[in-house]
Amino acid sequence: MPAALAGCAPKDPGPEVVYSGTVTVIGAGTAGLYAADILHTKGIKVNIFEARDQIGGRVRSLRNQSLDQYPLMPQLSSDFPVELGAQTCLGSDSIFGKIFKTYNLNSVEFPPSSSNFVMSKVAKSEADWGSDPDFLAAKNFRKNLRNNVGSASSVLQAIQSAGINERAYGVLNGTIGNAYGGNNEKMGIGELAEEEKLRTTDGLVIAPKSNPMQDILISRFSSVQSMVQLNTPIVSVNYSADPIVLTAKDGTTYNTDKVIVTVPISVLKTGVMSFSPGLPGAMTGSLTKFQMGDSLRVVLEFKKNFWGESVGLILGSTGVPEYFSAGLGRSQVNNTLSVTVNGDLAAQYSALGEGAVDAILADLDILYAGQGTQFIRKDTNLKNIYILQDWTKMPYLLGGYSYPMPGANNADRKAMGQPVNDKLFFAGEATDVSGQAGTVNGALASAERVVQEVVTAIKKV
Ligand SMILES: Cc1cc2nc3c(=O)[nH]c(=O)nc-3n(C[C@H](O)[C@H](O)[C@H](O)COP(=O)(O)OP(=O)(O)OC[C@H]3O[C@@H](n4cnc5c(N)ncnc54)[C@H](O)[C@@H]3O)c2cc1C
Repeated sequence: MPAALAGCAPKDPGPEVVYSGTVTVIGAGTAGLYAADILHTKGIKVNIFEARDQIGGRVRSLRNQSLDQYPLMPQLSSDFPVELGAQTCLGSDSIFGKIFKTYNLNSVEFPPSSSNFVMSKVAKSEADWGSDPDFLAAKNFRKNLRNNVGSASSVLQAIQSAGINERAYGVLNGTIGNAYGGNNEKMGIGELAEEEKLRTTDGLVIAPKSNPMQDILISRFSSVQSMVQLNTPIVSVNYSADPIVLTAKDGTTYNTDKVIVTVPISVLKTGVMSFSPGLPGAMTGSLTKFQMGDSLRVVLEFKKNFWGESVGLILGSTGVPEYFSAGLGRSQVNNTLSVTVNGDLAAQYSALGEGAVDAILADLDILYAGQGTQFIRKDTNLKNIYILQDWTKMPYLLGGYSYPMPGANNADRKAMGQPVNDKLFFAGEATDVSGQAGTVNGALASAERVVQEVVTAIKKV
């Protein structure tokens, strides 16, 4: 028998990467799960620490969530997945889009023709705005955004320099500032231009027809789920010697050999996670050039669809930069609006608490002649039915997604993801350099990049 086994040995290929150490991933969001999954596939020992009580991070779907946090969840009648964070995928040929295909998920496409744009408190389609000169100027500016590579201006300054009428500022905030996680006043246009130039996907906006986004992550990364230790916030990373020592919030320490940090940059910026030695100056300098915008998602159900059965997005209102008709193509009734407010306005709405819902309904009332308050569904106590997710107040997430400030460029994103001493590695949407930062695809792409860096470091020894 031993002789027979010995005969097999030369044919056993063993793991793809031979490594006796352990790689620890901090954060079980998209980037952390995918990085762990690829490393595991290569035969490398991995474990994952997650601060929160579930995996997914900023991919969070409204099912099986705690009633303490979402008391009105049972009142919602939606017959399609309601998303609290990421809700669409940019690019049917992107990494995320390919996951949909691998799992044969039916998806819905939201073509540009399904969008409405708001100017002078009126929402109309691109076709209906027709040759309105202010709309055309805004459309042209948006289309040519990529020509601003190297500019150190804010998006708003660039809009002003282009001489665009203020009447169209909302359209450009809905399609640029808010879409990229902030608002035009604070956002740098140079890095956005670089990102749009780098992007190579087909640009189709799709969403799964009936699968919650969080479930897609859970299925795709099921092989590493048992390696995730939930409710374990890491507060310090000491990589001054071997092994690296991680300390959790409850004081427990863990030894490991390499660490991949995937926490949002908001967490890195607040300093709740300390590094010893401190992070390199190039990285901390670049971190100051990006922000995690405040971010709010509000889901509202109405008794009827008064915004248009074929409308997907309503972009550019000053009160709400983005309404998404989340049931389009997915719901029998199509009466749900998913509101995303980012940046300064999200900070204002966050301060209002539940009053944010009234502010949103007031905005709808202006756009649709009082129909917001008229048709909002109410419970038996005549309270509005809604779900409010304030990402800024979520511990260990602290905001929406990263956006560049004026003067930032893609080299800064690269610096934020630079490995340190072949021991410390960084991934997560903010470190994406493929032009997809701020998205699930950016997080996935950063995971592919970081695994290559870890494997290169392992092979050096
Ligand atoms: C409202 C909203 C709408 C969005 N819409 C879209 C969209 O339509 N399409 C799209 O592609 N993207 C969208 N995004 C962005 C997308 O969700 C993110 O880019 C992506 O999920 C980020 O993944 P990540 O792995 O980089 O970070 P995260 O998902 O944030 O994962 C990081 C993980 O680290 C954990 N963590 C933090 N601190 C610690 C610690 N100290 N110790 C241990 N763990 C820690 C966190 O709990 C979290 O689970 C949206 C985001 C928001 C908030």
